[in-house]
Order: sequence, then structure tokens, then C-alpha cells
Amino acid sequence: MRYRLVLGDITRLKVDAIVNAANRTLLGGGGVDGAIHRAAGPELRETCRRLGGCETGDAKMTPGFALPAAHVIHTVGPVWKGGGRDEEGLLASCYRNCLRLALENGLRSVAFPSISTGAYGFPVEKACRIALNEVAAFVDVHADAFDEIVFCCFSASDRDVYRVLMQELGLAF
Ligand code: ADP
Repeated sequence: MRYRLVLGDITRLKVDAIVNAANRTLLGGGGVDGAIHRAAGPELRETCRRLGGCETGDAKMTPGFALPAAHVIHTVGPVWKGGGRDEEGLLASCYRNCLRLALENGLRSVAFPSISTGAYGFPVEKACRIALNEVAAFVDVHADAFDEIVFCCFSASDRDVYRVLMQELGLAF
């Protein structure tokens, strides 16, 4: 099992599943969600329509259609409202539920974007710490389940935040 830190477009990654930072409708939106829907093609929206939305903190899975990734795990991060509305707990639950779905479906490589840190306004360093802690805790308990977990950042400054915290937490990459 290895961690990989990538700077770039998550829609280009050939992994068992990429994670989508979706909204509760699951019908597509801006940011990474829009990029994933564009790259996957219209079948993704058709399939998502049948899922009936998704609660904040939860996750649902679809095929990847035209994406190089076999599956998309759609999760809905919390909108940052200052920290008093359990945003941290909800973000942690996004990461756990994504990995639980991957585990249940035998998916061995998963790539995460930085959930909630774009339009939803979650402070990046706080979000990164939650992401790394939740993933590391899950991987510790399910030691043989995964080959690779990718953190895919979309800006060099986010990548630098992840790099420093990964080193601090001893997550070799
Ligand atoms: P949210 O609504 O959860 O904040 P956004 O899509 O607005 O979701 O942003 C989440 C993160 O995804 C941000 O760091 C943003 O820069 C990043 N992002 C946007 N497009 C892509 C992409 N194609 N690949 C990877 N990350 C992306």
C-alpha cells in the first residue's frame, strides 16, 4: 500500500475509483464535479439521476463510463459555515464512507480530490488534516485492502499543504 500525491486533473487518473466532490443532487455542478461529468460523458448523469441524491457526509458509487477510472465514488462534502455546524465531522465521514464503499467493492486504488475546499469554502489545511487522518486510520484497520491511495490536488499551493502534512504524519509517498 502506498500513498501518492498528484498535482493535476483527477479525471485523467487510471485508478479503480476517483472520488467526486458532488452536491446533494448528484446531477453535476462546477469544479471537479463538472470536470468529472464532462469527461465521463452523459451516461454518468443518467445513472446519477437514478440514485436520488446523496446526503452530506455520505457516498454513492457509479461506473466511470468514458473515464480512465473504472468507478466514480460521489460524496457530498459540507459547506464551510465557520466550523460550528459539524463541518469537520461531516468531512471526515465523507472520507470514511468513500473508503467503505471501495472496500465493499474490492476497489484497490482510490483517488481523492480535496473535498469541500473549492466552492464549499472549507479551509484547506484543516480539510487536508482531516483527509489524511481519516484515510490513514481506515487504512490501518484494513491493511491489505488497498494498493494505492492518491491525493489529487489542483493547485501547487494545495499540493504543498498536503506534502507538508503527509510528511508530518509520516505518510510516505
Ligand atoms: P467543493 O464544492 O466540494 O468545494 P470543488 O470542485 O469546488 O468542490 O473543489 C474541490 C477541490 O477540487 C478544489 O481543491 C478544486 O481546486 C479541485 N478541483 C477542481 N477541478 C479539479 C480537477 N479536474 N481535478 C482535481 N481537482 C479539481
